[in-house]
Amino acid sequence: MIKVDFNRPVTVGNEFEYMQQAIANAQISGDGAFTKKCHAFLENELGVKKALLTTSCTHALEMSAILLDFNPGDEVIIPDFTFVSTVNAFVLRGAKPIFVDVRPDTLNLDESKLEAALTPRTKAIVPVHYAGVGCEMDSIMEIAKRHNVAVVEDNAHGLFGKYKGKYLGTFGALATQSFHETKNFSCGEGGALLVNDPVLAERAEIIREKGTNRARFFRGQVDKYTWVDIGSSYLPSDMLAAYLYAQFEQREKIQNHRKNIWEMYNAALKDWAEKNGAQLPHIPEYDEQAYHMFYMLMPDLETRQKFIMYLRERDIYSVFHYLPLHLSDMGRGFGYKAGDCPVTEKVSDQLVRLPFHNALTSADQEQVIDAIMEFKF
Ligand SMILES: *Cc1c(COP(=O)(O)O)cnc(C)c1O
Repeated sequence: MIKVDFNRPVTVGNEFEYMQQAIANAQISGDGAFTKKCHAFLENELGVKKALLTTSCTHALEMSAILLDFNPGDEVIIPDFTFVSTVNAFVLRGAKPIFVDVRPDTLNLDESKLEAALTPRTKAIVPVHYAGVGCEMDSIMEIAKRHNVAVVEDNAHGLFGKYKGKYLGTFGALATQSFHETKNFSCGEGGALLVNDPVLAERAEIIREKGTNRARFFRGQVDKYTWVDIGSSYLPSDMLAAYLYAQFEQREKIQNHRKNIWEMYNAALKDWAEKNGAQLPHIPEYDEQAYHMFYMLMPDLETRQKFIMYLRERDIYSVFHYLPLHLSDMGRGFGYKAGDCPVTEKVSDQLVRLPFHNALTSADQEQVIDAIMEFKF
């Protein structure tokens, strides 16, 4: 029996060579040659106005909250079922989180509950394309426009996914990417801010560079650079950009491999899931998913925990995630209580993610699938 990791960060191309080049270039701070290559790659492939590498998706979300002028008392609409950073970035600016429940089929922000969550204080809606499957962007964008509210897509899972033929991350005024080691494309820790609203582009550069107009200085647009706004240091080392660019170059290989993994799980587990009351991912026919993960919803919490332990005994590592944000210490501190987001409360108990990474082999997958077939409910 081989050990099957849940995640394993691996090199897929020229990572070592490019990191050596970055070192040889003798410019390993931010915005060197490889950072520029990454920016150009994202801008050209996705067709976004501006892409800026950041030290994490969390930091790109923090930049978004600053860019949208979040102030204490402003409200931000967040799906209840997401990673802490989606909400924390806005709470850092003093915002009040308004948690909206998710759809039971895609686990994405339930757009039918949006209208009721909006108030005159709402400043942004932050949809998360869960598992790289696009949210109902037609409805979300229409509602946001009608209420004059910004949209920030947390696209940590969704790079190269599409909704109705259009890339995820190109709908909102802003979108954020993650290159954490658990994501499809990685440099260990990293992220990007995608700027679709041109009005925000120049200020995004300033916020990323400690509140200075350093980028304009380098372009020769001002003759000295100075402190012009609030900001922080959100740019990653060019060594990390070198690693990331090597991964970007293998876009087709990585995405094809992940598609095969996803489809193998889906085909092998379809009948089993139906027979045993487990639910496999639902992909609306107009969504092209980004193949970020393969999850299942088990019948209940007890079965889910038993299942994870059962696989662990066979050296197979599966994980669950996202405790309902509204029931966390912080969420309760904002006045939320049990029952406020019932779908999230339910799926949070049921969800399990199967091993899924860029080095997973079909032998690994066969072992996982064989073990699952022998699981006693
Ligand atoms: C991974 C993730 C983040 C945070 O990404 P980092 O790059 O680790 O900061 C944010 N939101 C979602 C939905 C994520 O999955």
